[in-house]
Amino acid sequence: MEKIRLGKTNMMVSRLGFGGIPIQRDSEEEAVAIVKRCLELGVTFLDTANAYTTSEERIGKAIAGKREGIVIATKTTARNREGVEEHLHLSLQRLGVDYIDLYQFHNVSDSNALKTVLDPEGPMAVVKGAQKAGRIRHIGITSHQIDTAKEAVKSGQFETIMFPFNVVTSEASEDLLPLCRKCDVGFIAMKPLAGGMLENVTIAFKYLMQFPDLLLIPGIEKIHEIDEIVTVMKKPSTMTEEEQQEIQRLRKKMGTRFCRRCDYCQPCEAEIPISVVMQSRSFMKRLPPESTFSGWIAAAMEKAAGCTQCGDCEERCPFDLPIREMIAESVHSYEEAKKRYQERLATPR
Ligand code: SF4
Ligand code: SF4
Repeated sequence: MEKIRLGKTNMMVSRLGFGGIPIQRDSEEEAVAIVKRCLELGVTFLDTANAYTTSEERIGKAIAGKREGIVIATKTTARNREGVEEHLHLSLQRLGVDYIDLYQFHNVSDSNALKTVLDPEGPMAVVKGAQKAGRIRHIGITSHQIDTAKEAVKSGQFETIMFPFNVVTSEASEDLLPLCRKCDVGFIAMKPLAGGMLENVTIAFKYLMQFPDLLLIPGIEKIHEIDEIVTVMKKPSTMTEEEQQEIQRLRKKMGTRFCRRCDYCQPCEAEIPISVVMQSRSFMKRLPPESTFSGWIAAAMEKAAGCTQCGDCEERCPFDLPIREMIAESVHSYEEAKKRYQERLATPR
């Protein structure tokens, strides 16, 4: 497996990393086997998060006794000192390690959230303290919002940034990626398969292989998925004429119906978390049903049913998405899937 240098962290990592969201859907045995298979194939970068329920613990079980040579990245959504300290403590415990190679502030969605994270008396102080104490090696950030991501890179406080990058969502290639190169910030490409929405693995990875310094972290749920990706990455990445046409077709088909989670459409007068609602199909594919049909996702979908059709969000969306129509479709397919899930639960085995 080819290795790349992850920006100023100076860590050499496999160009293909492991995204730890979908293993939440597997049995523990399956999840551990998948992580082990990734290691066998030469994947050395494992990404997870405090927010991914069982993911850290399962990764911890898979790497037990093999810490050396593995780069572990995890994240916190906490935005205050106590919360960050608690998440960090839990991550170390669940992963069963003494230190985390890359600790990231998770989903920093706007300028205010970035300011909070950077407050030298706030979350950053805890992370820097942990770095000094050897519990963390490097500090990174993740975001879906391009302006916030650029601001974070320019701040000089982060060694890596994780941002969506795939054949449909490739906006970062224009300015964020060049900025990262200039500032020597490692670029971790999340959602190389558009959160499970891109089914053509060959095209998705051939496209990404054109960017030699991207660390690609697809979420893996089944062993055959990582096997397929590794096979594609071993082949020459030159695109045929036909494949290039397919990319144009995919961009046309998905580009106008694909939410980038940038949240420029906010605020919504009905307080609908639009980007969450837009992702419901991806959640249904990647998360366990008990998480998808309860808690914050269920609350978001309930709110979505109260859309007043004012249309303000559509005026603000830079990608001209038909948000009202997409919300109605998302609510409909979510409700259908929920009904099927509840029927399954009610059926005696
Ligand atoms: S159209 Fe619906 S989702 Fe959009 S801003 Fe208005 S209430 Fe919110
Ligand atoms: S609907 Fe548009 S503005 Fe809102 S998060 Fe998605 S892509 Fe961004």
